Parts: sequence; structure tokens; C-alpha cells
Amino acid sequence: MEKKRHHNETTVNLNNEAVSGNIEALKERISALEKQIEELKTAGKDLIENQDYFQDIFETVNEGIALTTLRGKVLTVNRNLERIIGVPAKSLLGRNILRLASDLLSAENLKFVLPVLKSLLYGEDILPFQVNFNNKIIEVSARINRTTKRLTGTVRDITDRKNTEEALTKSELRLRRAELASKSGNWELYLDTNVMIGSEGARKLYGIGTSPMDYSVAKTVPLPEYREMMDKALKELIEDNKPYDIEFRIKNVSTGEIIDIHSICEYDRKNRILFGSIKDITDRKRAEKEIRDKSSDLAKLLEISMELLETTDRKKVFEKIVRGAPGLIGLEAGAIYLVNGENLYLEAANPQLPPDLPEEFRKAVLVNHPHIHKAITTRTHLILSDTIREELTPQERAIVESRNLRSMIYIPLFADKKAVGILIFGTIGKQHDFTGHEMDMCMALSNICSLALENSLLVSNLTIAKEKAEESDRLKTAFLHNISHEIRTPLNAIIGFSGFLDQPDLSPEERKEYIDIIFQSNNQLLSIINDILNISQIETNQVLVHDLPADINHFLKNLHRQFLDDARRAGIEFRLNILSPSEKSIILTDEGKLIQVLTNLLSNAFKFTHNGFVELGYSREGEFALFYVQDSGIGIPESEHSKIFDRFYQVDKSVSRLYSGTGLGLSISNAYVKMLGGSFSVESALNHGSRFTFRIPFRKPVEDGESKPNALCKEEESVLAVKTILVAEDEESNFALVSAILKPSGFRMIRAKNGKLAIDICKTNPEIDLVLMDIKMPVIDGFEATREILKFRPDLPIIAQTAYAHPSDRARALETGCSDYLAKPFNRNQLLELIGKYLK
Ligand code: ADP
Repeated sequence: MEKKRHHNETTVNLNNEAVSGNIEALKERISALEKQIEELKTAGKDLIENQDYFQDIFETVNEGIALTTLRGKVLTVNRNLERIIGVPAKSLLGRNILRLASDLLSAENLKFVLPVLKSLLYGEDILPFQVNFNNKIIEVSARINRTTKRLTGTVRDITDRKNTEEALTKSELRLRRAELASKSGNWELYLDTNVMIGSEGARKLYGIGTSPMDYSVAKTVPLPEYREMMDKALKELIEDNKPYDIEFRIKNVSTGEIIDIHSICEYDRKNRILFGSIKDITDRKRAEKEIRDKSSDLAKLLEISMELLETTDRKKVFEKIVRGAPGLIGLEAGAIYLVNGENLYLEAANPQLPPDLPEEFRKAVLVNHPHIHKAITTRTHLILSDTIREELTPQERAIVESRNLRSMIYIPLFADKKAVGILIFGTIGKQHDFTGHEMDMCMALSNICSLALENSLLVSNLTIAKEKAEESDRLKTAFLHNISHEIRTPLNAIIGFSGFLDQPDLSPEERKEYIDIIFQSNNQLLSIINDILNISQIETNQVLVHDLPADINHFLKNLHRQFLDDARRAGIEFRLNILSPSEKSIILTDEGKLIQVLTNLLSNAFKFTHNGFVELGYSREGEFALFYVQDSGIGIPESEHSKIFDRFYQVDKSVSRLYSGTGLGLSISNAYVKMLGGSFSVESALNHGSRFTFRIPFRKPVEDGESKPNALCKEEESVLAVKTILVAEDEESNFALVSAILKPSGFRMIRAKNGKLAIDICKTNPEIDLVLMDIKMPVIDGFEATREILKFRPDLPIIAQTAYAHPSDRARALETGCSDYLAKPFNRNQLLELIGKYLK
């Protein structure tokens, strides 16, 4: 811009009188004028200097400046204005500001700028406003100078300032957000003035709001117990420059909430300012506490479960659990009851029950405690959240009130998969809602209880099993003693009396007597062997049940007949008690086994009765057939009742006992009755006789004409009676057994002592209907003999029998041509049934 200079005009007035009259005065005036001129010159010079000075300022200020007339015509602009708005002076000078604005500004800006400019032209100053122009943010203001009649417009480029401000605001915003999100804040404390400045986050954490604060305010927020520690930390930071990193708790001023705080602080020693940051660590602390609590709970649980390893005494474990629970889950009261039938028995309680409490607290009736009952029957836990509001039975209420129990949990205890007890925890006095963690702990404790129960059950089962094994061992030893005695006695008789039979001077009566003794001894031996065979078959599960129609009245009458002679000889009355003896009472059952059971019972009855009577009875009881054998004999003490059915058990275990026997009869009988679907009972008292009763299902046979009564029925006997059987057997005892079985059934028997004889006898005896062929025989063995016999009697049924019960024997026997195969030992029924199969 061109610089212009303006000189002030000076006017001098000349007085005519002074010219004419007084030169001196004129001189004076001239000198005064000269002085004035001099002064004016100095003033003009000052003015010029001032103008330069202002021109300098005009050009050097940061702002762009424009001077216009009051009507808005641009008179002059400085260079900064040209630079800021990017328009040269020549395009501006002499133009009106309204026009210029219309040319330069965007329509959007113009909308609010034009009215402002107009108001300026109407005489109002313009307060600073901002416009966006040429990618810059420009602040515009204007002032009216009424003395000089000029308008001064000022523009300022505030782009950078604005951007910085914006960036600052943004980062502040970010910081604020970060603080609020992370529940943290920061503060500054000016030690000299005690002024404290806190960020929004810090103020929020402390609950202080926006009111001014100083250190004394901040100091009252932490809980009193932390203040001393905080002062000390601050002192050490300021005095010793020791790092300040502490944790404490505060009470939020507005909400009253207790908050855990982690605080770090630094000290600017030079300016004596403390810079601190705080963070809400309540959640972390809570989590830490939870982890601490949980791990200490687990440690306690472990300690309680260790008790399981140390003892098998469940009561000790129970005591530990009810006492340990308060430390674990804060439930002060606990109890454990076990169920036995209808009753509950207290096993452990905490706090312990005073000794003078009613019995109901230690032994209770289950139905009076429906909550326990429900937990046990549903096998799930049950919670009473407040006993004051719950409906309780008087018995429940009595316990709850005497112990002041409020919130309770009942957890069932299991052993052997059955709910057998209950674990109860409760609070004393105060209502309590069980947390998930507490529930977990309760369940873990109940599991330990259940394990303790299982353990004690296992131990008692093991003890019982051990006692049983020892008892069985004792019985077996006793049996071996017995059996050798039982076998030796008849054997002695057989051997001894057989020797006498050779004596030539023996009278026919003596001979008959000796033969009777030998025969009796033989039978005795046979029955022992049979018992042993039977028990071994029972133990190896080889006994099969063959149900066929049988006439009860018929076989009872037969049995009665069989024992009548013995009874008469012993002078004992033998009674048969059946309702209508002349009628048939057909039942579907295994008659052979039934007869064997009754025979055992009758033998015992006669053996143990010296005078009085023996009675055999039968009656129908609904779905059951009930049999009994009663006697007036020596009786059995009650303590022995459950044992006499054990194998080898005999009431009189002494070596010098009066009665013979092996102790197997009742055990076999019991097993058979079970196989027939029935059960035994015994009533007896020492010296008052005995009554053995058993019942089996009364099943009627299906009337299909096919079923026949079993082999021992009269009808069947008559069919079989005419049959002849060749028994090829070299062993005497084996033959004795076979003949003992076959003879009573009326078979005709021929014996061959070796294979060769068997062939010969078959050739000469065409009436032979069946051969029982022993395999291991002298001269010619059973296989060879079978092959030979079949050559001339191809249809003759030959049943192989051998003691070598190997599956290959059976295959070999059948290959050889045998019709069937019977492994020794066999019993009466098996033999009769097999023979029956081929001799129909
Ligand atoms: P055994 O008679 O061969 O000894 P059991 O098994 O038949 O064996 O009987 C077991 C025991 O039961 C007998 O030894 C005896 O002590 C007792 N017992 C059985 N029946 C009677 C009875 N009718 N009277 C008294 N005691 C009996």
C-alpha cells in the first residue's frame, strides 16, 4: 500500500495597528509567530512520525485489517488481510463490503454473513464470528469509529488454533471416555495452594460432583482405617521420593458405596505438585477374594475328605463335616440323620445337642418330618428359605425353634444307590439365600458323607464276608471230620459183616441179619454220596428243574408208607395230615425234588425224635401249596434257626455227638425249594419239637393230554416195570448206585462187569431194552462194546456213562453210535429221565 503524508495547515493573523504603531510589538509578534511556526513544525514532524508508527503497526499485526467508510467502501487494507483471505488489495480497494462478501463467500456462509454486515452498516459493532473460507477458519469482527467516521474490520486465521482445540477436545473426550470405562481417574494437588483438581473419572469415583475440592475433602473419602497408611505413603513420596502405589477402600460420597481403589502418585518436586491416578479395583478384589475363598474352601474340603482315608468310621467323618461346614459355607448349624425303616437316627449334630433334649431329636419318625421324607424319596435336595414363613409339622417346628434355625437345606445321602440318610445345614437366627458356591459346597460335602457311608457299608460287608468265609472254613473242616466218620461207619459194617457171610456155621437168621446190616449200611453210604453229589451240582448250577404234573396226595401217601415201618420200630406215632386223601391233587412241579426235600425233613424228624410223634402235612393256601413236617423231638434253639440251612452246619458240632449226618440235608432242601419257587420257615424251641414248613406255588398243569406225571408215579412205574436194562459197569459202588435208583422203579436189571460180557449178554438176552454202558471197563472198553452190540442190535438204545465229563467224550460216544450220554456224577432224576426218554 502506498504511504501518504498529510501536513496540517497553520494560519497566521496579522494586526494592522501593530504594523503602523509598534515595531517592537511587531517583532514580538513575529518572534511569537516564529515560535508558533517552530512548534507547528515540531508537531507536524511528530505527526508524520506517529503516522509512520501506526502504519508499521497496521502492517505488522497478525490480523488482517480493512478500513472502510461508514457506508462500507474499502479505503485501505493491510497485507495480512490480503494473505489471510487470499485476495489482492487492488481487488478490494474502493469496493463495498457487501458486494465483496457476495462475490467471495459461498451461499451457505453468505446466508448469515450478509445480515451481520448489514447491521454493521446500520451502526452496530460486529462481535467476532467465524466463517469457513478457502479451507480456512476465519474469525471476523468489526468496530465503528464515529470520530474518524471509519469502520475497522479485522480478520484472523484461526484454522490452526481451531484444529488444535478440536484435537485437544477429542483427546480429552477420549481420555474421559477411557477413564469412565475403566473406572479410573486422575488428580493433581498443588501443595502450595492446597488446590486439588480431579478429572471427571476421579470425581465420579469419589462421588464429589463438580464442587471445588482440596486435599482435606479428598482425605475424608477413604475409610478411616486406611488414612494413616495413606498419609505415610504421601509423606514418604514427598520427603524420600519413595514410589507411592497403594490400595485402600473409600466410601463414595454420593452413593455410600464402598469401593476398592488402587492409587499411584508421582511428585513434581520443583513445582510442588502431586499427580495421582486412581482406579476402581472392586471387581478385581472381589474376584481375588472369591478365588481366595474358593481355594481355601477347596483346601478345607480336601482336609475333610482326607478323613475318609484315615478312618472307616463314618461317624467321625460326619462329625468333621457338620463341624467343618461353618468355616466353609458359613452355615452354623448342621446335622446328619440316617434312615432305618420308618425311623431317622441322628448321627452327628453341630452345635451339639444338650443331653437333656427330648428323644425326638435323636430318633425321629420319618413321616413326622415331611421335608426330610421328601428329600429322601425324591432323591433331590430341598431348601427352606425361611422357617418362620414355612409350614412345618409340630415335630419339625420343635427342632427348628429349639435351635433357632432360619434358612435350611436338606440334601439326601446315598449308599449302594439308595437314599439312606439326610445332611441338613441351616443358619441360626438370620435368613439367608444360598449362593451357587454354597450349593456346590453342600453337594461336595454330601458326596463325602455318601462316600463315608459306602465305606462303612463296604467294611461291614467285608467283615460279614470274612466271618462267613471263616465260618464256612470251620464248617468244611468239621464236615471232613464228619464225613470220614459217616463213611467209615457203614463201610466198617459192610466189610466186617461181608466177611462173616463166608462162615460155614452161620445160621440162616444170622445171615439174614448180617445181610440186612450190609444193606442198610449200603443205603447209608449211598445217601451220603447222593448228598455230596447234590450239593456239588447245586453249587455248580447244574441242577435243572423238570416240571411235570404230580399228584401230591399220591406221593405223600407213598412217603408215609415208606417211613411207617421205621416209626413203628422207634415207637413214634407217624401222622399224615392231608385234607382229602382219596382225591387227586395234581400240581405242576418237579416231583423228584419235592420228594427229596420231604424225605430229608422226615429223616431228620425221625432222627431227632425219641418219643411222641412226627407229622407230615399238606394244605392248599390260595396260590400256594404248603407242606410241613412236625415232630416232638429235641428241638432247635432259636439262635440256630438261621444257621441250620447253611452247608455242613449241625447244631451239635461236638465230635462225640449223638446224631449221624453230614449237615447237608437242609441246605440241599432249601436250595431245591428255592428252585421250585418257594421258601422255607422253621418254628422250633429246644426240647419242644420242630416244625419245618415250606410253600411252593400251586401251578395247575395245562390239560393237553401230553403231560404225564413223572417217572415215579404209579402209572408210569407199571409201564417201565417190564423193561430190562443191561448195566455194563465194573465198579461195585457205581453199580450199587445205579441199582439203588433203578430198582425201586421196578426195572429188571442185568449186570455185565466188562465190555466183552456186555456183548455176550446182549447176544443171549434179546429182551434187553436198553444198555447203560460204562466207558472205562476192563477187557473191552465201552466204545468197542457199543460198536459190536450195534452190529446185531442196531436199534438198541445205548446210554454211555463216564466220570470223565469232557465235552469230547460226549462227541466220541455219539460218534460211536451211543444214543445218549450221561456224565457222572448224575442224580436219580437225570438217570430216570434219560431212561424214560428211550423207554416210552
Ligand atoms: P444233618 O441232619 O445231616 O446233620 P441237616 O442239614 O439235615 O444235616 O440238618 C442240619 C442240622 O439241623 C442238624 O444237624 C440238626 O442239628 C438240626 N436239625 C435238623 N432237623 C432237625 C429236627 N427235626 N430236630 C432237631 N434238629 C434238627
